[in-house]
Amino acid sequence: MIIGEGHVSLRGFVRPAKQQTIEDCFCNCRNQFSLEQMRMFFTDFWAVGNHEKQNYYLRGCLEVLGTETLNNGTTRKMYRYKLKLRESTVYVCRKFFLGLYGINESRIRRKVRHQNNKCKIQC
Ligand SMILES: [Zn+2]
Repeated sequence: MIIGEGHVSLRGFVRPAKQQTIEDCFCNCRNQFSLEQMRMFFTDFWAVGNHEKQNYYLRGCLEVLGTETLNNGTTRKMYRYKLKLRESTVYVCRKFFLGLYGINESRIRRKVRHQNNKCKIQC
């Protein structure tokens, strides 16, 4: 397996030092989880320790809602984010999702959305 990203160490492990930021959002996503559950999502995600696997996981959380057409005529996809909570699936907004895992929007944009099925790990 080859990992060619600068912020991943040679052995392919992601450096820690990520922080969870639970955002207060308009939709009150945080009310759907207990503090413990939110911590668990974060801990489990970073315990993976491998960037590719994390991206693969994140990809599984994205669901395309549809496309919208902007004023300038370009279209873009709209997403929602789902989290597995025991037997059920809970949908949250992007703001909450990113904060929950301590990741930033650009990672989703560059590594998750635009990488169609080019999974380097065995899925
Ligand atoms: Zn929300």
